[in-house]
Amino acid sequence: MLGRTGKAALLAAAMTLAITGCAKEDTGGTTASGVPLIKTGALTTCTHLPYAPFQSKDTAGKVVGFDVALIDLVATKLGVTQEIVDTPFEGIKSGADLNSGKCDVAAAGMTITDERKKVLDFSDPYFDATQALAVVTGKEVTTLEQLAGKRLGVQGGTTGEDYIKAQVAEKKLDIEVVSFKDLAALQQALATNQVEAAVNDLPVWNEYIKANPGKVAVAAGFDTGEQYGFAVKKGNAALLKAVNEAISKAKSDGTYDKLYATWIGAKPAA
Ligand code: GLN
Repeated sequence: MLGRTGKAALLAAAMTLAITGCAKEDTGGTTASGVPLIKTGALTTCTHLPYAPFQSKDTAGKVVGFDVALIDLVATKLGVTQEIVDTPFEGIKSGADLNSGKCDVAAAGMTITDERKKVLDFSDPYFDATQALAVVTGKEVTTLEQLAGKRLGVQGGTTGEDYIKAQVAEKKLDIEVVSFKDLAALQQALATNQVEAAVNDLPVWNEYIKANPGKVAVAAGFDTGEQYGFAVKKGNAALLKAVNEAISKAKSDGTYDKLYATWIGAKPAA
């Protein structure tokens, strides 16, 4: 007969087994090259849709774009398939989604900032961006000052929102800044005159204008000197290395330029 301590020890051992048993099923695995993944056979990407040309659904409902294509290169390198999870930007930029194991990598046209660096590990920069002010075609607006007394739309949680709020405070502008939950809502608000103008990253306006010719124009640019980075959970050095290697290989073998031409268009002169 086992004593009380013996029984407790057996029970504890059984529980450990049960827990590791469960954990094994849930924690995905590690690729041959030592990269941990939350799901076996997949590189799970968190993004916030829509954000064309970086990520958006095509007519068949498949998520495509520049970021998607670059992360596909990482997935191929790891011998797995990319799976995309659409989730609010707040959880992406705060690190919450990566920390909770919702995804392995974040790819969301996301600007590298010092604040975000505290909670995420960023890849090498893969894209340069600026902010831009868009208006419905025909509106005579070229400066923020001209928006006095008007509503200006931004996308919540983004660097564009931060930039505009800082400008409004610094220049004491009488502008009502209205935040929308995603790019689609912001573009809709602009198109339907709920706001006088809207601010977001320049490439998304260029893409919108391509898709809806003649409706909207870029009225002004703000050279914020932003750079996009992919992000992994803090400390996930193995995955970060794979991401950086995929970016640098794509840059050196011409794949990056090809994808840039496909998704973004002509490259600005260096
Ligand atoms: N580049 C902007 C940022 O990082 C917008 C990103 C996005 O909306 N997906 O805040």
